[in-house]
Formats: sequence, structure tokens, C-alpha cells
Amino acid sequence: MIRPILSKIQREFSGQRSFHHVAEISQHHRIQSSPGYRDAAQYCQKIFHSDGVKAEILSYPANYQTSYWTNAMWDEWFCKEATLDILGDQPIRLCDFQAEKMSLIQRSIATPKEGVVAPIIWLEHGDDETAYPDLDLHGALVFTDGDWNKVRSWAVEKRGAIGIISERMVEFPIVRHRFDIPDAILYTSFWWTNYEKKCFGFALSPKQGDWLKKNCMKQMALHHKDSKQPAYLSAKAFVDSQLYPGSIENVSAYIPGNTKEEILITAHLCHPQASANDNASGVAVAMETARTLKKLIETGALPKPKRGIRFLLIPEMTGTYAYLSQNEAKIPKIMAGLNLDMVGEKQELCQGPLVVEYPPQATQSFVGDLMAGVLEAVTEEAKNLAGTTSYALFKYAISPFSGGSDHYILSDPTVGIPSPMLIQWPDKFYHTSADTLDKVDPQMLYRVGCMSATYAYLLANLEVKDIDWILPLARASYLSHINNLLKKDMEISLQQNILDKEKTFAQTRELLDHLCALKEAEMMDLQRFVPKNKQQLRRAVNRQSKILRSFTDSLLKEQKTALGISDEPDNTTLPPALSSDRIPVRLFRGPFNARGSVEKQPKVIQTQYQTLFRDFPSLRSCNNQLLYWTDGKRSVSEICRLTTLETGIPCVMFAESYFQILHEMHLISWK
Ligand SMILES: [Zn+2]
Repeated sequence: MIRPILSKIQREFSGQRSFHHVAEISQHHRIQSSPGYRDAAQYCQKIFHSDGVKAEILSYPANYQTSYWTNAMWDEWFCKEATLDILGDQPIRLCDFQAEKMSLIQRSIATPKEGVVAPIIWLEHGDDETAYPDLDLHGALVFTDGDWNKVRSWAVEKRGAIGIISERMVEFPIVRHRFDIPDAILYTSFWWTNYEKKCFGFALSPKQGDWLKKNCMKQMALHHKDSKQPAYLSAKAFVDSQLYPGSIENVSAYIPGNTKEEILITAHLCHPQASANDNASGVAVAMETARTLKKLIETGALPKPKRGIRFLLIPEMTGTYAYLSQNEAKIPKIMAGLNLDMVGEKQELCQGPLVVEYPPQATQSFVGDLMAGVLEAVTEEAKNLAGTTSYALFKYAISPFSGGSDHYILSDPTVGIPSPMLIQWPDKFYHTSADTLDKVDPQMLYRVGCMSATYAYLLANLEVKDIDWILPLARASYLSHINNLLKKDMEISLQQNILDKEKTFAQTRELLDHLCALKEAEMMDLQRFVPKNKQQLRRAVNRQSKILRSFTDSLLKEQKTALGISDEPDNTTLPPALSSDRIPVRLFRGPFNARGSVEKQPKVIQTQYQTLFRDFPSLRSCNNQLLYWTDGKRSVSEICRLTTLETGIPCVMFAESYFQILHEMHLISWK
């Protein structure tokens, strides 16, 4: 059960120790495949060892010829020095890599040894080549707030610009406008595939950007008044860096159990200095979780678990792809995972809540409900005046699968390691130079650490008697979910005419049928943990399913009566009939990583791929779900139906083309 384990962990885990780790790790410039990252990995190994946890550093080649599954690698990068000076009567230094690592676009190539002097050309619509048909960019530095990758693809690739100055600040409404963080610099990087023309670039804060823009325009105005004056400001750029075949490293630490089965905790160790919350925090929590469990097991406070617990510190995505692709035989023994990403936030500054993100639905596992159950126990922090109930002193939320970190690889059914994620999102300082130690809260590291250790230990020790409390946990989450859905639908329906009411109701029924069947499958996932008790589990799950089914039916009946519905159309989310409804079979494991894979294809396929994602921007977030549901048995229309039920996004038009392109890339076959 959750609380007895949690309270032992709460006595041992230290938020302050974790905080010290964040302070140390955030001093390393941890670019994937770089000496700075390697130093950080060595620091982590040392901490594991000093806490008595066995840890090794696993090294994998990193160069343009190497791929791990569909994830193409790149060369290692090292930068010693880089500066950008604006020239004039009083030269001004805008960027200095040694002082602020994010002032350089990561993976910038070197300039000539003596640096390069070039005019700065301000492009107001930098993303859009057609806005500048006649502008000569040869030998220039292009200055823009557009997407630096898009700007590079035309200004450098085709028009001879030598470098980029980016003043981009990605904004997300409510939490972050560029005015909110005027001195922060966005984390920018080139992710080279080796198919492009490489360059260097610098990044400015919004305040620096405004200053430079103003002066560029002033210079242009001077030139218009007096044509002897130059039209552009000039700058001296200097970058001393190298790209070369190298390696990436994973730190793998292990607390052994009594069997070969394992529970896996992942946290990415990469990102520029400081990136304290993203993700020195996750790494720190993983290391303190290991120490805590090791100590409790060693002293006998907790029995040695049945399964081992592995801690994998990785360069985000690439390290996970590398580890899994090199350990394929071991994957079936990795029973479940947990991904820690941005878990130390001082909420009053960073603003986002602590989120338990579920694995995708196609993973069909109970582990999301387990993590949510552990969160609930951790929220019992403070009591009301009478002492009759407890609640949290922090913000938290539960979210369906969204992706964007290593759990999206682990949870892919072709991998089959169901993994929730703990994250704080949104974060005002995310991917900027302002993600520093002062935004980290030891108390939050403590909460997340206690949750991670409890979750991992419960799974490591899960046995047949645990079915009795895990199934009610799954039942409770289902009932609360469908109650909320029906409540929302009632509000919508009350504003609709009878035909629309019927349609809404039919959609709701279909969704609830789907969720009910899904919950049953999720509960049956326990079978992997108790294979010898299959019959007993089946009977217990059947009892729960019966309750869920009858509850669902009663609630639907009540809703129907209350809305005065007599008819209902059936199967409303079924997509329109497809010209041929074939069954796609995946020929690759793990999510498809387009970067570096698409560039290898003939031009016509590249164009098809880019056009598809341009035409369906909303599908960018659910193409993974389409692939997760692709199990070699379901047809395209069934995959689309499930994806729409999961995400709420219609996807038939997109899916037909997407599967066709993947087929042309020899990544799926048709059955
Ligand atoms: Zn990040």
C-alpha cells in the first residue's frame, strides 16, 4: 500500500541534498555529445558511488553516420570561446559565450581564427524568404526574431549569409510574454543532420534585441539622409568551436532486486548551463531517490525488492534511443518506467503546477493511475483548522499523455515500458538563461522525490496481494473521469437543439465505451507483474469491470432521460469510409524521429512530408498516437477512430497520407 511506504521514504529523502546536486549539475554546460555533458555524467556517477549505489557510464558513438532506431545522431561539439561585438565609435560586446552559454546558438561552427567583420541586416520577417526577393545577403549577419532554423534554410543555404543573430523569444500565453523576461536569452541550437550548410549564430535577450533593432533602423535612416553613410551596422563575430565524431553517455545506476526484472527511472542530464529546473532537477531527484531507497533497503527499513530499480541519466531522447536499441533483449524485463523532467520549480516564480502525465492510451497500463494515487497521498500536507482533512500546499494537476520527453519513447507499445512523467508545466523560464538555481525549491524536489521513490518501490515489490488496492485505485480514477465528462457534456447539451443533443450523446456513449474497455485492459496489465496468478487477476478485474460497466450504463441512462433523448445515431466518430482500409504494419521500434531521417529521402518524399505537416499543423501533436495504435492488426480507420477518441482530433485525411509516406520510406508495410 502507498502510505506506509511513503512515510518511510518521507523520513529519509532530503530535498536539501537534492538541491545541492541541482547546484552542482547546473554549473556544467551539458550539450548532448560534448565534453561539458561528459563532465556532468562523471559527477553523477561519483555521487551514486559515494551513496553506495553501483553506477556505470555507458558510451555510444555520436556522428552523422550513426542512428539508434530511427533517431539519427550528430557530431560531438565543443566551444571554447565566442563573442559578438557591435562595431562603431564605441564598440559594444553583446554576446560572450564564456559568460553566458546561451548567448551562442549551440553547435555553431567556428569563424576564421581572427573572427569575421560583417554587416548586420535586420530581417523583420525572417521566416519568409519571399519578403526579400532582391536583398543581397552575401557575407552578412542576418538579424531576426523569426525561427533561426527557417532563416538559416534560406538566408544561409541559398543567399550566402554567414551567420545569424536571433532575438527570438518563444512566448506562451498567460505565463510568458517577452516583456515578462526582458533579460532572458532563449536556448537555441542547430541540430545538424549534415545535409545542410552549417553556420554560426548568436542569441540575444528581448532587451538586447530591441536595442539592436533600434540602432539598425537608425543607421538605415542615416544612410537614407546621406548615402555616404553605410546602410548597415557592422559587427565582429568570433567563434572558436569544433564539430567532430564523438560520443554520448548514459549514466546507469542500479539497485538490485531478487529477479532480473527492473523498474526504470529516467531523467535527462543534457541542456545548456544552467538549465536548473530543466533538468538538473530531475537528475538530482533521481540520484537522491537512489540513495534513499538504497539506505532504506540496506538498513532493513524496507525489504529487498523483488525487482531491481534502474536509474538512467541520459541526453534527452537520443540516450534513451541508444540504450533501448542496444539492449533489445532486455526490454521485456523492464516492467515500467517513470520520467522526471523539470521537477524542482519554485511555483510562485515559475507558475506551473506539478503534473502527473499519463502514458499514451495505447500503452494500456495501470501505472498512470498508480502515479496519480501516489500524488494524492503526497498532497496530504496541511490540515484544516479542526484537523479533519488534509490538503496540498502546492499546485498540481493530472494530464493525459502529451509527450515531448523520454517517456514518449519508453511508452511506445513497440517498446512496451509504460511510463508516466512528472513535470512542472508551464514554466515561465523554460528553455532560457533565466532557468537558474534561484527558481528551484528544495521542498518541491522533496515532494517529487518522495513520489518517485514510492512509485518505484511499489512497482519493484508489486505482488498478487497488491491487486486488492490497485484495482480500486484504477476504478476510482475511471469513475471520476467519466463523471467529469458527463457533467461537461450536460452543460454543452443543454444549449443544443434535439438533433445535436442526440449527436453529442452518441459521441459520449462511444467515448465511454472506449474508456471502459480501456480501463479493463489497463487493469489486466497487472498480469505482467503476477503471471502465475492470471486466473485470480482475471476474476478480480471482471468484478471491477462489471461495476464500471453498470455504473457507466446507469449514468448514461440518467443523462439520456434528463436530456429527453429517444434516438441516437451510432458510431459518430467512425471516420468516413476509406477508399481502401488497409492494415499498416510498423517495421521500426520506438517513435519515428523525422529529423535526419527525412533528409535522407528523395526530394519528392521530403516535400510530401513537409507539406503534410504544414497542411495539418494540429496533427503535429498526435502523429505519435497514430503510430502507438498501429499494432499490425488494426486498420487505418480503426487506428484513426482510436486516435480521435484519445485526442479529440479528427485525423483521417492526415493519417492516409502519413502512412503512405512512411510506406514509401520503407517504415511500414501493408497487410
Ligand atoms: Zn528541455
